[in-house]
Amino acid sequence: MSTAQTGSSSKSGAAWRNWAGNVVSRPVREVTPASVEELTAAVRAAAEDGLKVKAVGTGHSFTAAAATDGVLIRPQLLTGIRNIDRNNGTVTVEAGTPLKRLNLALAREGLSLTNMGDIMEQTVSGATSTGTHGTGRDSASIAAQIKGLELVTAAGELIACSEKENPEIFAAARIGLGALGIVTAITFAVEPVFLLTAREEPMSFDKVLADFDELHAENEHFEFYWFPHTGNCNTKRNNRSAGPEAPVSAVSSLWEDEILSNGLFQVVNSIGRAVPATIPAIAKVSSKALSARTYTDIPYKVFTSPRRVRFVEMEYAVPREALVATLRELKSMVDGSDLRVSFPVEVRTAPADDIALSTASGRDSAYIAVHMYKGTPYQRYFTAAERIFTAHEGRPHWGKVHTRDAEYFARVYPRFGEFTDLRDRLDPDRLFGNAYLRRVLGD
Ligand SMILES: Cc1cc2nc3c(=O)[nH]c(=O)nc-3n(C[C@H](O)[C@H](O)[C@H](O)COP(=O)(O)OP(=O)(O)OC[C@H]3O[C@@H](n4cnc5c(N)ncnc54)[C@H](O)[C@@H]3O)c2cc1C
Repeated sequence: MSTAQTGSSSKSGAAWRNWAGNVVSRPVREVTPASVEELTAAVRAAAEDGLKVKAVGTGHSFTAAAATDGVLIRPQLLTGIRNIDRNNGTVTVEAGTPLKRLNLALAREGLSLTNMGDIMEQTVSGATSTGTHGTGRDSASIAAQIKGLELVTAAGELIACSEKENPEIFAAARIGLGALGIVTAITFAVEPVFLLTAREEPMSFDKVLADFDELHAENEHFEFYWFPHTGNCNTKRNNRSAGPEAPVSAVSSLWEDEILSNGLFQVVNSIGRAVPATIPAIAKVSSKALSARTYTDIPYKVFTSPRRVRFVEMEYAVPREALVATLRELKSMVDGSDLRVSFPVEVRTAPADDIALSTASGRDSAYIAVHMYKGTPYQRYFTAAERIFTAHEGRPHWGKVHTRDAEYFARVYPRFGEFTDLRDRLDPDRLFGNAYLRRVLGD
């Protein structure tokens, strides 16, 4: 932590926007604390002034989870590695540390997280607070890799929690939605850095679904993308490997990851937004553009990739055994509608975990994510998709567009009451409240 620096506090009034641009808020004050003491003072001062408080990460959530009209706490000066404990296989980082910085620092130390999501721009606390996940047969979300965390409560106290210390807080606060306090540091389980071999391969929609159980069971990390308006998918399997390292070639990286997945994809989406009728024809060509490839690299280089094309996203976790039926219903819905969808649908999995409000809490899960290019109306598509997901008791990603409320969550999360009871205890006056939390957790 940069204790030598002093943080800043300023009257704001300026608009805060999330990455996707679909959420805007106007905090009255912005604070960038440089130490836990400064953060605690900011929390106390807000309470005295009768203002709400919200910590923000990098604004990569599509929901208004981080929005506030009170005091906005910025993460920029609460970053860095506090401690690496090789004996216990853990790293402790300041809460505002970007995942990218964590991954690079760990790699330099010959260490790695076990699993991660598609990108690494987010802060560690922002990513874990909404349950950010990748795909895994045995390894779960980033929050499930937390061994301990510290947070400043509404009373201005610093509390540490782990399986042994304040276990009831630990059970909930790993995915705390920013509702229980402001996280100041997180301790993650890490392991010696390892190699993953990725196999990317086109496959038909029917074959992926017919073989889904096998593909899931036989691979440590299986995921696929289905291209709406086509029967085509791209699959990706990542498995641990003895090596040797064989990174994506510079040519393949430029062509597939930059030109096809970002540059050309941006152009294609812009054309689709201007003339939606072209989307099905374009989808048939673009879904076949990516070819099979195999590469071997360290985890973050295999799991994550740049996402430069802006979009809005909804993602639901359904019980894993409901994946095939849910996805078939989604495809029938798109095929039978006049919707024009230029973004692929992403499917991932996670094993059941023990975190109260994790989308995979107590159940093996499959995630289905629908996206729309920024600036394209998404409501009709998302509403129809959400109807299908909720019919399968789906649980929406806390950071991605959804319309569910506390009544719904009390039904699909057996441990919902455990979380709200803890919130009543830690934040009875809702110092960390906002409109989003009122909707999803109740008053
Ligand atoms: C391009 C893109 C790719 C993505 N890929 C994935 C993916 O692969 N898998 C996945 O699951 N999700 C993914 N997401 C969603 C994203 O990971 C989550 O929305 C995540 O919460 C964003 O982290 P952030 O740092 O931007 O936090 P923000 O969006 O800024 O904040 C998220 C929440 O965390 C709270 N918070 C932040 N800091 C603190 C703190 N110190 N203490 C307490 N609460 C805090 C905020 O108040 C808010 O409630 C993606 C999003 C985008 C835009």
